[in-house]
Amino acid sequence: MSQRWKNFCWKTIQNALPTKDNLVKRAVEIDPTCVFCGERETTDHLFLSCEITRRIWSSSVLGLRIPSYPTPSFPMWFKNMFTYLQRTSVDSNRIWPYLVAVTWAIWIHRNNIIFRKEDLNPRAILSLADAVFERWYKGFGDNKGREQTDVYNLINRGKQPPGSGEQIPRGITS
Ligand SMILES: [Zn+2]
Repeated sequence: MSQRWKNFCWKTIQNALPTKDNLVKRAVEIDPTCVFCGERETTDHLFLSCEITRRIWSSSVLGLRIPSYPTPSFPMWFKNMFTYLQRTSVDSNRIWPYLVAVTWAIWIHRNNIIFRKEDLNPRAILSLADAVFERWYKGFGDNKGREQTDVYNLINRGKQPPGSGEQIPRGITS
């Protein structure tokens, strides 16, 4: 999985994506409504509790049913779901990337509606998720286990962004 997608995973987990509620917190003036359904867009809403998103998760190959109330915290849900899929799936290497792919596809489609004036099309989200999944899965080659460990470490590493955790031995920098 490329660094770009790993960054996306990390930002999602840190609730650091520029979702509308995050922009409002930074006093950016925008229309705060969800482009899928018209309710208020928060990270939890966009990726989990929006009626469109819930339909996406349940019709994806993961077949996940998200309760409409109470809204789970998306970062917590994502971490727990990743761990759950990793432990319980017979072929987890074919399953967990799909979790990331659907999340990514929701974000891209949402951006395309806002910035490219595309129409809402839940099927397009699922097709994009499938396409991205296929590309990653092929790209993993013989490194499937390592990719899984990488993403597991990434979502459990806390505040440091990907790539910034390496310790530089003393004496090399000075
Ligand atoms: Zn919505």
